[in-house]
Amino acid sequence: MTSVATQKSVQAECALWLSENWNPELSLREWRELLVDSGWAVPQWPSQWMGKGLPAWSEKVISTELHRVGAPGLPTGVGMSLAAPTILEHGTDDLKSRFLRSTLTGEFSWCQLFSEPGAGSDLAGLSAKAVRDGEEWIVNGQKVWNTSAHHADYGILLARTDSSAAKHHGITYFVMPMKQDGVLVRPLKQMNYHSSFNEVFMTDARIPAENVVGDANAGWTVALATLAHERRFGNIVSRPKVVTGGRAVQEALHEYTEYMETYKWYPQRAGRVDLLVPQLTEQELNEDPIHRQRVAQILAMQKVSGWTADRARTARELGHPPGAEGSVGKLAMSEIARLASMEHGRIAGAMGMLNGADTPVNGMVAEVLISVPGQSIAGGTDEIQHNILGERILGLPREPQ
Ligand SMILES: Cc1cc2nc3c(=O)[nH]c(=O)nc-3n(C[C@H](O)[C@H](O)[C@H](O)COP(=O)(O)OP(=O)(O)OC[C@H]3O[C@@H](n4cnc5c(N)ncnc54)[C@H](O)[C@@H]3O)c2cc1C
Repeated sequence: MTSVATQKSVQAECALWLSENWNPELSLREWRELLVDSGWAVPQWPSQWMGKGLPAWSEKVISTELHRVGAPGLPTGVGMSLAAPTILEHGTDDLKSRFLRSTLTGEFSWCQLFSEPGAGSDLAGLSAKAVRDGEEWIVNGQKVWNTSAHHADYGILLARTDSSAAKHHGITYFVMPMKQDGVLVRPLKQMNYHSSFNEVFMTDARIPAENVVGDANAGWTVALATLAHERRFGNIVSRPKVVTGGRAVQEALHEYTEYMETYKWYPQRAGRVDLLVPQLTEQELNEDPIHRQRVAQILAMQKVSGWTADRARTARELGHPPGAEGSVGKLAMSEIARLASMEHGRIAGAMGMLNGADTPVNGMVAEVLISVPGQSIAGGTDEIQHNILGERILGLPREPQ
């Protein structure tokens, strides 16, 4: 890499590498291994850890190049969005060597084991316990709402390791192998009939001592890093682009379809703003001034929220750590989803409660109405985002504990 990398020089160097190395006939795993070993998979990571030490903007430049030639990029999900960046920031070299590469190539899949029946917003009140036993930790307790735990290889787990310490101390952050006798995963059925998250019961589950991220009893700081990554918004998963056939592309499409099986209700959770105008047209309400006004307001809010997301993305690309702007974006998404679901309900009327092919947009309105509440809960509720903004941006006194 040249000494002063510009977006143009990075783009040109990556394009050259792709022209020499992109081979759709490889398996997806082989292709990703090649990409990871070249440093182009995560160019913004340090060169010691599979990156090129380039500025954060390089991530976008490379994904655009990969998209241009139709080459699959990295896997999506908790592994890439939460586990890998947290391990990169807080893990030992041993953890980085054992987990980062296999997460980038898609060999390991992950889930997040934070929430408990009695600890969601008040996460530091968690009660799952881990006790050190020689070279292992033994974990007992229950987690809940754990998306994708039913097929994850590893979980990022918070457990109490010192009950005598104050609530935010005495918590340790672990990487727990999910495929073991001590871990029971039970899928939950949601009111929208999907089943994307689970209850996880740990009964004498075992974790190697070297799987602690950060220091024992100092896991809260590490958890905050993960939560900040979770509030980053704009991680839209798009279908791999098909420019050519080939094994890698087919396998990427298959991976995407499987992934979306868990997340296929997420667009409904976000309010399906895209269906508002088609619904107005279908019901011949395009001329109605009240509906027009409401739909225009929602579309305008979506546009503004997109600009806020762009600003946050640019800040990230410039290397700023994830900050409170994630809370602004998350709140905006909740508000837009709520307004859109109300408007869908008003347009469809009583028919909006029905499911089936002969109902408005094939039952999609009904699914929107019962999926939207999840938007203001997942990844920290609206009230918690308000608290974060009040304290960190407005400088209000801290909430009484
Ligand atoms: C779609 C989805 C996916 C999820 N995936 C995962 C996952 O993969 N892994 C995982 O660990 N968890 C996951 N969760 C769980 C999620 O993180 C929690 O549901 C969330 O943190 C809220 O916790 P809770 O459900 O216990 O609600 P509670 O914390 O009990 O909150 C109940 C109500 O009280 C309000 N409240 C609580 N505290 C305050 C306060 N201090 N000030 C003002 N109001 C307050 C809340 O805003 C809420 O309205 C997921 C949730 C959803 C909906």
